[in-house]
Amino acid sequence: AIEIRGVNKSFGDAAVLRDVSVDVTSGSLTALLGPSGGGKSTLLRVIAGLERPDSGQVVISGRDATRLPPQRRDVGFVFQHYAAFKHMTVFENVAFGLRIRKRPKDEIKKRVGELLDLVHLDQFAERYPAQLSGGQRQRMALARALAVDPEVLLLDEPFGALDAQVRKELRAWLRRLHDEVHVTTVFVTHDQEEAIEVADTIVLLADGVVQQQGAPAEIYDNPASPFVMRFLGPVT
Ligand code: ATP
Ligand code: MG
Repeated sequence: AIEIRGVNKSFGDAAVLRDVSVDVTSGSLTALLGPSGGGKSTLLRVIAGLERPDSGQVVISGRDATRLPPQRRDVGFVFQHYAAFKHMTVFENVAFGLRIRKRPKDEIKKRVGELLDLVHLDQFAERYPAQLSGGQRQRMALARALAVDPEVLLLDEPFGALDAQVRKELRAWLRRLHDEVHVTTVFVTHDQEEAIEVADTIVLLADGVVQQQGAPAEIYDNPASPFVMRFLGPVT
């Protein structure tokens, strides 16, 4: 589980996160939804430990992580413009986190094999990132983030740059993957439909303020404000 308690973050004069409190249940698939500039990426970076809040607390798996560096938080993350190691094969990219943890070679081979099966890239182990499609590269990034068995998986618009058809496929695939692996996942999107289709909980963030948090149906049935109603738009 992730508990965010009264987090504030400013850049200069701009208050980007304002008294943000969010509860992410263990094993849930939570969408962080909201308009551009609303603070979604900043909040994700605060959870990852890439950004230090001015005040407030981040608790991951019952442990106060507010002052821990990213590598000690047990989180895996994938950002929108994911940078793979270009000179490494798919296998080596996914194995990277295990290698720096000095896991035995045969264990690495087995684990990476399982992960490549999971993301349907078992045929692509010896390719280089440049030889993959955008969707395949995102799946490789997910496998890499999952390799070290993180408590929490953070995805910032993982499918943002892809075309509509591939996005749709990857959404369905992320849902199935989550049903299989059950890792606590927070993914950022500005796409209402994507959030509703994929997530079991939605956190709606705009102007640095949590506007509402709940199951998709709950938010639709009981929007907390005219803003929420407008943002979600007509139900189709
Ligand atoms: P998008 O959907 O466009 O990705 P977002 O919800 O992820 O938007 P953030 O990237 O969190 O929004 O940015 C929130 C606000 O904070 C924006 O006004 C942005 O310009 C500002 N901001 C973010 N990072 C920095 C930074 N390092 N320095 C200064 N301002 C920043
Ligand atoms: Mg963003």
